[in-house]
Amino acid sequence: MKILCVGRNYVAHAKELGNEIPTEPVLFMKPGTSLFVEGSFQYPSFSEEIHYELELVLKICKTGKNILAASAHEFYNEIALGIDFTARDLQTELKKNGLPWEKAKSFDGSAFVSSFIPLESLHPSRNIHFELLKNGNLVQMGNSGDMLFSFDEIVSFASKYFTLEKGDLIFTGTPEGVGACYAHDVLCGKLENEKIFELIIE
Ligand code: ZN
Repeated sequence: MKILCVGRNYVAHAKELGNEIPTEPVLFMKPGTSLFVEGSFQYPSFSEEIHYELELVLKICKTGKNILAASAHEFYNEIALGIDFTARDLQTELKKNGLPWEKAKSFDGSAFVSSFIPLESLHPSRNIHFELLKNGNLVQMGNSGDMLFSFDEIVSFASKYFTLEKGDLIFTGTPEGVGACYAHDVLCGKLENEKIFELIIE
């Protein structure tokens, strides 16, 4: 099982970190050991600046390679909210030196995922609204309609390089408003105004 992630998929977020607007999806991966679905987030000893990035997460439901965008929707049928936890202090250093991001993005516990819901239970236009509250304050608000690359475009593009397998997850990028979290913070995720997770930082 693998976790694919899309970077810079919302214009306002790319700008807030001083990045260019990409012309094709920016992909990176997290290993299975980064996934956690229950319990609290354990602050790693190697970072003093962990950022939350709230994202819509797709679950792949059948194996595919070189998937056409027009049929990409057949390859995922469930959605969740996830947090792409990022050691921003490490990432900034690695980016500055032109080095790979894995230490900052793919460490144990860096991929939180809520429970999944069937995509068909959301409204048909699939402009999905989601929000993150930190200690009760709204910090991120996103809508899938604002993504630079749609779910179908991401699935199609990624499958050119990586065979997608049943159970793989795709983090589809974070909207603006990323920021640091610290011990005792409480993160709450809402999908279409319904609370679907509450997570404590330890
Ligand atoms: Zn992200």
